[in-house]
Amino acid sequence: MKAFGYQGGELFAEGVSVRELAERYGTPLYIYSRGHFISRYRALAEAMKAVKPLLCYSVKANSNGAVLRTFAEQGSGFDIVSGGELYRVRQAGGDPARVVYAGVGKSMPEIEYALREGILFFTVESEPEAAMISQVAQRLGVKGRVAFRVNPGVDPRTHTYISTGKKENKFGLDLERVRHAYAAAAKMPNLEIVGLHMHIGSQILSAEPFAEAMKVVAELAAELKALYPGFRYMDIGGGIGIQYKPDQDALDPKTYASALTPWLQKLGLEVVMEPGRGLVGNGGILVCRVVAVKDSYFKKFVVIDAGMNDLIRPALYQAHHEIQAVRETDARVFGDLVGPICESGDFLAADRELPAAQAGDLLAVMSAGAYGFSMSSTYNSRPRVAEVMVEGTRQALVREREAWPDLVRGERAFSS
Ligand SMILES: *Cc1c(COP(=O)(O)O)cnc(C)c1O
Repeated sequence: MKAFGYQGGELFAEGVSVRELAERYGTPLYIYSRGHFISRYRALAEAMKAVKPLLCYSVKANSNGAVLRTFAEQGSGFDIVSGGELYRVRQAGGDPARVVYAGVGKSMPEIEYALREGILFFTVESEPEAAMISQVAQRLGVKGRVAFRVNPGVDPRTHTYISTGKKENKFGLDLERVRHAYAAAAKMPNLEIVGLHMHIGSQILSAEPFAEAMKVVAELAAELKALYPGFRYMDIGGGIGIQYKPDQDALDPKTYASALTPWLQKLGLEVVMEPGRGLVGNGGILVCRVVAVKDSYFKKFVVIDAGMNDLIRPALYQAHHEIQAVRETDARVFGDLVGPICESGDFLAADRELPAAQAGDLLAVMSAGAYGFSMSSTYNSRPRVAEVMVEGTRQALVREREAWPDLVRGERAFSS
């Protein structure tokens, strides 16, 4: 389904006018298409149906409670990377028995919380982490279910900062170390070895890196299955790429599935997946208002009310987001789209053709549904923006705009 498109010269989010939402809730404003989220979830489940995977939506991509609830209602599990994300999942009515927990720096209190909630398994990144889980599990009188994260050493051909499966990354264990880690974990008293995990990177646009990784990992999984009686899960991570540029094709779930399912069927393990961006990225936009258009000797700056604190991807990864005018126009200007933050890196588009706009006009930053709000901050003491969800012609505010008092909440004076 097309989440965002023009109707009578005006940008719509499903059946709702973006301008009306901006007028009602103010700008900057994140707008999400619930219909898009659901159709992406279903398309992936359908493409992979030969192996009936457990889809665990990756919470960090977009952790708004209404988004989590949308996926929980579809029967989704969740991939988390912190205790805070588990708390969010529980608040949104998610089933802890369908939660997998990754990350290189899990703390004792986080491990304890996850064990008490009875999550499906931990994806473990090191031997010391396995020892920590065993220790906490022993104290609670339970067993910690674990799957090590293997680093298959393939290049996902994506941005360096979002590539995780290469040998030099901090994530996971290489093929030699991982066998050793399993043998060590098997001797720890309160662990059950239940599976193997990989996640090679994010925004991957072709099926080849996945197939290459799967080929390496399938052999290891078969070996582990023969060694450990409780071994039953193959977790293939996330990483499915979306469309950011008009000339770019998102990775089709069917293409992805046809590269992976033959291997997975042969393995005969329960398949777990952790899609994040692929489910939500194209289902969100960030709407902003033009504050001023500034001409310098060298170029034009379109100054907007959204900045890198609201959407950090361009500043952090040189990421490209399409910019569309909320009122359709063919007129173009060449320049930078910049925010109000006191940093030269504060741009949402640089040296690009942009829709011609004047102060007061509304612009939409496209494909902002993943790693948008969830990576936002209050840098420069800017309150976090509001989030709205639409479905058909219905709309709802799913997170209030923060106000100045929120900025200082919890702060205390230093008194001597
Ligand atoms: C971030 C992350 C994901 C989701 O990645 P996407 O590229 O958004 O699909 C999945 N698994 C793990 C372990 C992650 O850290």
